[in-house]
Amino acid sequence: MDALLKEITAIVGAANVLTGEDVSARRVDWLTGAPCRAGAIVRPGSTRELAEVMRACHAARQPVVTHGGLTGLVHGTEAGPDELAVSLERMTAIEAVDPVSATLTVQAGAPLQSVQQAAEAVGLQFALDLGARGSCTIGGNIATNAGGIRVIRYGMMRQQVLGLEAVLADGTVVSSMNRMLKNNAGFDLKQLFIGSEGTLGIVTRAVLHLQPPTPDVQTALVACPSFENLTGLLGHLGRHLGGSLAAFEAMWQSHYRLLTEESGRHTPPLSPDAPFYVILESLGSEPQSHGAQFSLALERALEDELISDAVIAQSDAQRQALWAIREDIEGLIQALSPLLTFDVSLPIGEMNRYVTSLEAALARDWPRGRMVTFGHLGDGNLHISITVGSADPAARRAVEHLVYTPLAELGGSVSAEHGIGLEKRDYLALSRTPEEITLMHTLKRALDPHGLLNRHKVLAPQDG
Ligand code: FAD
Repeated sequence: MDALLKEITAIVGAANVLTGEDVSARRVDWLTGAPCRAGAIVRPGSTRELAEVMRACHAARQPVVTHGGLTGLVHGTEAGPDELAVSLERMTAIEAVDPVSATLTVQAGAPLQSVQQAAEAVGLQFALDLGARGSCTIGGNIATNAGGIRVIRYGMMRQQVLGLEAVLADGTVVSSMNRMLKNNAGFDLKQLFIGSEGTLGIVTRAVLHLQPPTPDVQTALVACPSFENLTGLLGHLGRHLGGSLAAFEAMWQSHYRLLTEESGRHTPPLSPDAPFYVILESLGSEPQSHGAQFSLALERALEDELISDAVIAQSDAQRQALWAIREDIEGLIQALSPLLTFDVSLPIGEMNRYVTSLEAALARDWPRGRMVTFGHLGDGNLHISITVGSADPAARRAVEHLVYTPLAELGGSVSAEHGIGLEKRDYLALSRTPEEITLMHTLKRALDPHGLLNRHKVLAPQDG
């Protein structure tokens, strides 16, 4: 690697080739804090520099792992000593904001939050939002097709991207920087890179679609007496809020109780005796009428006994306090150590049956284990947090088996929004057909014939 690093240093400058302790000081795993083990970290400052770096790597058959904000949760950024990490951290510019066509052009290393702020500065909004907003990057959001907390209203990252630019494994720059809502001129190539977790190309720039502002945010926490009422509430709000519902974040009692009463980390806004809780958020443009519509929808839900209790946030501080319960991943890590997290999707109607039988299976196999559940219920997405008191890989495999196996029969997915990475690679076939997986390998070979980009992530090596 030494000769290659010399060549790369000539491209990006010595200050942008990190080795030794500058590499190991980086944490590549948000959950475990595992250090970076890459042979070196390269920080290109432009698409041109990255293309030259990739040309050199391609000639040397050097495997490369792309680093964004390092908040991914499926070990997609892990790299071995024989791999080179390419970090987009110097490519953070917001290049242009066009309020007329509602587009924002950005370099891929820009943090999500800076894009949200740039959109707000021109009176628009960028719709993607998730707990890691301050650290995760637009390139990482694209590579993982991130979901987040507003999917029921605006869709996932895929729906926010109009165009992008990517550098292929051989250094070819594919510029597909479309700025229009409509463009059916041949294949929509950007889709190849969205959600392919850096295995087909390195995203360097993007054109994002902005949304009209929704200055009035109504947020509530409600308690639900049953799962049927929870799904009934989702339909009720769809009918009564005219499409303004943006978040429907369900917490099973186990989750709500753990983070409030049990751990003392948050004062419970509602007593923790109900089987289900939901954080609801509705986005509107006109405060008075939107606020009244939101309150009325909740009053009706109380009258119809869909919910047993509710609290509506009266200030931004109260809104933050409600969300803090749902977004308190640190609290889960502390209480459920060593923590095993799962991000699955399945038809909404099947969720409670799935959760109940998973709890029973865990109690059978791990009497001292513990499981709590929350999720973006409106999207059919559950986040399950489990501890069995052991970090042993065999224990992890056994729990994975319990979590993932029933999904195939239910038509669910082993990854709702976090991706496959290394963590779920061996379970891909539970959610994709053999033909789909074969086509994924064909695409990988076409774009990266030497398998250099994010080697062995998503697709198992023996298959391709
Ligand atoms: P990284 O972690 O750096 O990389 C993730 C993957 O993308 C890796 O495979 C990497 O190689 C690849 N990659 C990164 N940048 C590029 C690029 N420019 N080109 C090609 N490949 C690239 N995810 C959700 O979907 N919804 C949530 O609600 C959500 N909430 C989260 C909350 C917390 C507290 C945390 C820690 C994570 C959460 N995540 C969530 C997961 C994570 O934030 C997302 O997956 C995010 O999109 C990753 O962005 P990143 O820049 O940190 O990517």
